[in-house]
Amino acid sequence: METDVAKRLLAVKAQLPAGVKLIAISKFHPDEYIMDAYREGQRVFGESHEQELARKADTLPTDIEWHFIGHLQTNKVKYIAPYIAMIESVDSLRLLREIDKQAARCGRIIKVLLELHIAEEATKYGLTPADCHELLASGEWRQMTHVQICGLMMMASNTDDQAQIAREFDEGSRCFVQFKSEFFADAPSFCECSWGMSHDYPIAVAHGSTMVRVGTAIFGPRVY
Ligand SMILES: *Cc1c(COP(=O)(O)O)cnc(C)c1O
Repeated sequence: METDVAKRLLAVKAQLPAGVKLIAISKFHPDEYIMDAYREGQRVFGESHEQELARKADTLPTDIEWHFIGHLQTNKVKYIAPYIAMIESVDSLRLLREIDKQAARCGRIIKVLLELHIAEEATKYGLTPADCHELLASGEWRQMTHVQICGLMMMASNTDDQAQIAREFDEGSRCFVQFKSEFFADAPSFCECSWGMSHDYPIAVAHGSTMVRVGTAIFGPRVY
């Protein structure tokens, strides 16, 4: 029987152009919801708390690819390094160094995205375009053999102003194009723009997104 989660997952997927990946954001949602989506073929899920993720990764099927999307403290990296598929929320060189170190310990290469801060809200984490440019220009990441920088992640402002949201995604896309040509011209793996959540993913896919992070529109409201 098709559950509500399954129906909503399929409805979201039907709206995504080919080539745009769906990360189902399952934070605060129970395992049974994740399994509803899993049975429809969804394999990539995103979580934002290290302990909740650890518990789910331990219990749920091992072919799930987990993305970390929340603010990650440096001292927590070691707990997720053995299995995390991608860390989308890298917002400092210090964090990037720690991921490289812990990935090396596990004999893995961890994919990461650099998190851009473009939205107006002062509370959001992430690197300004200038700070992100500086991190890349420092070149230290080129010596890191256990991280692979695959692109950028951003959240647009939480507003009903669709034109503003579109402008912010466009600014993210300009950063992506600039960083790609300046630092990753010979790296096809630098190819992801993780933009778009439940309320703005249709705008995001029209403005450069290759990866959307959708929670509420699939799983319903979160119960904190
Ligand atoms: C929670 C979260 C999402 C999903 O938000 P929804 O509005 O539930 O789709 C996407 N990205 C990040 C970084 C998040 O923390």
